[in-house]
Amino acid sequence: MQVLKFGGSSVANANNIDKVASIILQKINADKIIVVVSALGGITDLLLESGALASEGDELYKEKLLMVETRHIETVKSLLPVTQQSHTLSLVKAHINELEDICNGIFLLRELTLRSKDRIASYGEFLSSQIIVAKLETIGIDAAWKDSRKLIMTDSNYTFAAVDFTSTNKKISAWIKQNKHAVTVLPGFIASDVDGNTTTLGRGGSDYTAAIVAAAADVSALEIWTDVSGMMTADPRLVSTAKVIPHISYQEAMELSHFGAKVIYPPTIQPVMKKNIPVLIKNTFALDDEGTEIKSTPPKNESNIRGISSINGVALLSLEGSGMVGIPGFSKRLFEALANEKINVILITQGSSEHSICVGINEQNASRAKIVVDQIFSHEIETTKVEPLNVERGLSIVALVGDNMKSHPGVSGKMFYALGRNGVNIRAIAQGSSESNISAVIAERDVKKALNILHEEFFETTYKQINLFIAGVGNVGSKLLAQLQQQQAYLQDHLRLQIRIVGIANSRKMVFSETGIDVQNWKPELEQGAPMSIEKFVHTIISKNMRNSVFADVTANNDIATFYDRLLEKSVSIVACNKVAASSSYEYYKKLKSLAREFNAQFLFETNVGAGLPIIGTLNDLLRSGDEIIRMEAVLSGTLNFVFNNYDGTRTFTKVVKQAQDEGYTEPDPRLDLSGTDVMRKIMILAREAGQHIEMEDVANNSFLPEGCMQGTVEDFYKELPKHEEHFKKLFTEAQETGSKLKFVATYENGKASVGLQHINPQHDLYHLYGKDNVVLFYTNRYTEQPLVVKGAGAGAEVTASGVFADIIRAGR
Ligand code: ADP
Ligand code: ASP
Ligand code: MG
Repeated sequence: MQVLKFGGSSVANANNIDKVASIILQKINADKIIVVVSALGGITDLLLESGALASEGDELYKEKLLMVETRHIETVKSLLPVTQQSHTLSLVKAHINELEDICNGIFLLRELTLRSKDRIASYGEFLSSQIIVAKLETIGIDAAWKDSRKLIMTDSNYTFAAVDFTSTNKKISAWIKQNKHAVTVLPGFIASDVDGNTTTLGRGGSDYTAAIVAAAADVSALEIWTDVSGMMTADPRLVSTAKVIPHISYQEAMELSHFGAKVIYPPTIQPVMKKNIPVLIKNTFALDDEGTEIKSTPPKNESNIRGISSINGVALLSLEGSGMVGIPGFSKRLFEALANEKINVILITQGSSEHSICVGINEQNASRAKIVVDQIFSHEIETTKVEPLNVERGLSIVALVGDNMKSHPGVSGKMFYALGRNGVNIRAIAQGSSESNISAVIAERDVKKALNILHEEFFETTYKQINLFIAGVGNVGSKLLAQLQQQQAYLQDHLRLQIRIVGIANSRKMVFSETGIDVQNWKPELEQGAPMSIEKFVHTIISKNMRNSVFADVTANNDIATFYDRLLEKSVSIVACNKVAASSSYEYYKKLKSLAREFNAQFLFETNVGAGLPIIGTLNDLLRSGDEIIRMEAVLSGTLNFVFNNYDGTRTFTKVVKQAQDEGYTEPDPRLDLSGTDVMRKIMILAREAGQHIEMEDVANNSFLPEGCMQGTVEDFYKELPKHEEHFKKLFTEAQETGSKLKFVATYENGKASVGLQHINPQHDLYHLYGKDNVVLFYTNRYTEQPLVVKGAGAGAEVTASGVFADIIRAGR
């Protein structure tokens, strides 16, 4: 005897039923076959909707019934040869008429009992099984139909009836003994009570029918044919990288389906497990795929986790109160109250202080639960021994399942760390004492993210994904994108890192794609994007709620920097090329740092000082390893270097400044560089990183730029500058006379920072600086005689982009 079950999508239309028929045909041998089928996919929903509409007095129910009729008629017409259609067509019509009569009655009475719901729903499986028998007969198979209602006996708990196994097993065995047909088709899902009324086994219950029959017939294996290639490591609709689980234990399959893996109906496992009958889950649409085998002792897998699943629509009930401590009977009364109301408890936790009990239930039952529980504890609530029941809605449960967890410590640590690092707040935790599942209650809006985080953590040892949002695609931003493209393969091969660009914005447009924007084609995509609004950009990053999100700010925009706190609070890491935030008020800088710590995000801004040079990173490494900064001396302005390296008395100062601007070394307003403001910001950032509470006004600036040059527009500035040529010349010759060069030096010592022009002699570490070079000398407790020197190009789009790139990788890991 073989038992095969085909689900709703496998029998959704004539085309699919053809596939089912050929699977059955191939299986035919001396061993008889029992085929259990679902209704044509979507039909059960339509039937139940018709009943509900009729009971509400809504005539739309007739349209729904018409849809039910059309689906079946069309299926028959395209499935069976014309000459063999009439019997099945009239059978369909007769039953649809009956169904219409029932719904008309419901419409008139405005009453829909659970019993009539089951009656209505039963037409789905009844018709599908009849149509399939007819199909099998037309291809020459000795096929018969058998009404499951004559075999499976239940109580009268309509829509969710409990099976009476004693009489059911007896009936099935007796029937099997006298059944002579090669193939018998049974409608799944439906059964009957002792009075002969139709009952159903709960939504998705055809799997259960098949398992009941398989167990009673003591078959060697049960095959469940569906539209996926087996039980998967996670719901494939939510986790695109979910993989088929080749082997799984009964216990694990039960836990996964109980916690939401829809691929099998949870009660299915019980009857077959008792008889040790293996279950094979196969894909009707991919015959060559191996599928999943469910049995008692499957081979171990690499990860100690077998799968991850989730249930939405959960409410958490918390009963709290000092009056509960040490007094027995509180939980008994709580659970009794819920049980009397037939409210199913999905999860339970109780702190060892016994101060509170927390239970997870279906959200739909929450209001009823609140009433009955408050009633049962009304005396304790009045006397303030217990608080009124606290109900929290909008929650979900995510569960990790695996029999091997118990022998491997650290699974829950890894689970909670991964969720926490990505800003998923955990409301309650439960671990069954069998230790084959750990479940966490989280907000429903975080479910997709949480599943993906956990899936990556436990199943995708191959890649780690960074979800990147970039604002600013000017010089540096576009170089960054080019570098990202060039390095994609390297990062995957060597760091097992995948950077997915989810959002890009410039000052005019923004574009998003959850599956990733093509780095080779970002320009046209951005051009077709929505108008840029920084509020919307930030809001989108937050609402996408993707794991391992990083925002790279490659602008110089003041407004954008004011949004960093909102992102960090949602555990989105920030990589800022933009100096505004780190050099704004100390209070904001500090706030961002502590938000990053609190919400497990990163706030990185290496390129704020010395472009791609590892200056802030080095400073942090020194401090973290216990060193102390005594003094820093630095040349941090590529612009000022360029100007003083090229100003040698042969050309006017104005000409040199103009050249620097033309060659792109200066800010649009060169005075920001010449006045030393930019260098002040940089040394302030270094001082802050060294632990100093310091603001811009605390940095002394011995500016060499005459006051007159600071007034008016850039144009005015270029008019004013030549008037001061003598002043600049004097600065130069004074230095030359002592054999020194002019350098604009930033210094930090004893908590004080200053910037200004200095004479640097050839013996000094700052003397040999060329082009756009920056240099920082760190004098520390460990580097006393000779400083630790970081030196190299401190400006330029390519090196800056590479610094941002390095920060992105750091943030993502
Ligand atoms: P059938 O109609 O064949 O009974 P179902 O729709 O009831 O099929 O169940 C199969 C569906 O279950 C799949 O299409 C898939 O989207 C969903 N599903 C949810 N979780 C899982 C999982 N962990 N593994 C496989 N499928 C899952
Ligand atoms: N047709 C029923 C349902 O949709 C039973 C099943 O498909 O398993 O719930
Ligand atoms: Mg199903």
